[in-house]
Amino acid sequence: MKKEQEISRRKFISTTTKAVATIPVVAVLGEGALGEEAAATAKLDESNPTAVALGYKHDANDVDVDRFAKRATEEGKQQFCDNCLHYKPSDEEGWGPCAIFPGFNVAAKGWCNVWVKATT
Ligand code: SF4
Repeated sequence: MKKEQEISRRKFISTTTKAVATIPVVAVLGEGALGEEAAATAKLDESNPTAVALGYKHDANDVDVDRFAKRATEEGKQQFCDNCLHYKPSDEEGWGPCAIFPGFNVAAKGWCNVWVKATT
């Protein structure tokens, strides 16, 4: 009898542990726990120090190509936030969160020096 109780307790603990492990983090901690990206609503200011350092502009045509020659190439001229790996579309047309600027939306037709081709 005691052995059966031991096995039953082990099975309960094992099952409970697996069940808890499958609860989405968001359900426990809320969307804010995933970082500001999930709740981004503010538009990134071009004067944000990180934006300045990375050459971010709302309009990719305004990028300082003397500083960021990558954008001056023929390939570079096809680079925009909305075809960058780090960009996610949002409900606000023309704007969306970017993994590089947590908490802010960037312009779909913007650009910064971290641009990486989206895989899809
Ligand atoms: S990382 Fe990509 S999506 Fe984010 S600002 Fe730079 S170019 Fe735009």
